[in-house]
Amino acid sequence: MNFATKLLHGRSGIDPFTGASSIPIYQASTFHQFDLDQPGVYDYGRSGNPTRHALEEAIAVLEGGSRGFAFASGMAAISGVFMLFSTGDHLIVPEDVYGGTYRFLTKILSRLGIEVSFVDTTRISQIEAAIRPNTKAIFIETPSNPTLKVTDLAAVSRLAKAHQLLTIVDNTFLTPYYQRPLELGADIVIHSATKFIGGHSDVVAGLVVTKDEELGNQLYLIQNGMGAVLGVQDCWLVMRGLKTLKSRLDVSTHSAGKIAAWLDRHPHVQRVYYTGLAAHEGHELQERQASGHGAVLSFDVGNRDMAKALFDAVRLPIVAVSLGAVESILSYPAMMSHAAMPAEERLERGITDGLIRLSVGLEDVDDLIADLEQALAIAAAKCLANR
Ligand SMILES: *Cc1c(COP(=O)(O)O)cnc(C)c1O
Repeated sequence: MNFATKLLHGRSGIDPFTGASSIPIYQASTFHQFDLDQPGVYDYGRSGNPTRHALEEAIAVLEGGSRGFAFASGMAAISGVFMLFSTGDHLIVPEDVYGGTYRFLTKILSRLGIEVSFVDTTRISQIEAAIRPNTKAIFIETPSNPTLKVTDLAAVSRLAKAHQLLTIVDNTFLTPYYQRPLELGADIVIHSATKFIGGHSDVVAGLVVTKDEELGNQLYLIQNGMGAVLGVQDCWLVMRGLKTLKSRLDVSTHSAGKIAAWLDRHPHVQRVYYTGLAAHEGHELQERQASGHGAVLSFDVGNRDMAKALFDAVRLPIVAVSLGAVESILSYPAMMSHAAMPAEERLERGITDGLIRLSVGLEDVDDLIADLEQALAIAAAKCLANR
């Protein structure tokens, strides 16, 4: 079955209990047991719910894993996965990992005596050099945020296997439509379903898929034991969003490619980061391990004044943190996602005061380009006048 069909029929969208064409929201905290000697499939809402179960099966099928889990947010999913580890363990994580993950690792998990090395995961030699006798896992996020650096999933998984480490991948940016890490050897895939999977900027959610049953059992213990499960209404919203994932990404990715190429030629844009551009250093690897380049790109307009003036002048994209929605979202990493990072380190990673991230939505691409064009013209005029 191809992906588009799988989205709708991979895990039957039909409610097995009633035949309803959309899985109903089973708004129940507990489940009557008809016979104490023969417990039903569901007993208590934290431990299991048919609406949540449907979403968990759907994502497991799409990622090609054996078990899926829905959490209250992407961070609940990520922190849940890190609960697999114990005091004395060591983990390897990208230096440009998502800010919330960095905060969890350095401010919370560190208190439990779990050590983390932050390395440039695009360089396998750096990962290899960081492996210690107590290392237990390699965590990957590819492409990374906001400069879209690409890490070789198959190579990392091979290295991990050789050292009996788990490979964990945050697949939020590309979704299983474009990239399926489990097929490349990873053990666990994580999503902030708040982004492309939910897709409508109306729900905060997280998903985890494990490749094998045993890891699935361990993760179920954590999900049920810690209790950060996704509420049933939100499960329904995520399933609703998931059905159109391919259609949305087809359009947004096509537009992102067009916008990236246009920005790349624009005189007021100094640099564009998009893996679809042949000049991007991760371009070839991305083409090999993923089937698309996704809908997120970043571009550098040179300085803070230009960026600020552009944010003031754009009319279509909303200005916000987050990405992966039907509407385009423009964000400013230096003051949003990476505000907590020391300026020196930010600059070293290309997160300059002129860097802007664009998550392309479903607006007409010519309208988006026209909007950016007028905003760049206003910004340039303003900055010239101020000189
Ligand atoms: C947003 C995001 C997260 C965190 O997810 P929440 O749903 O906001 O908790 C994790 N990883 C990546 C790559 C993200 O973009």
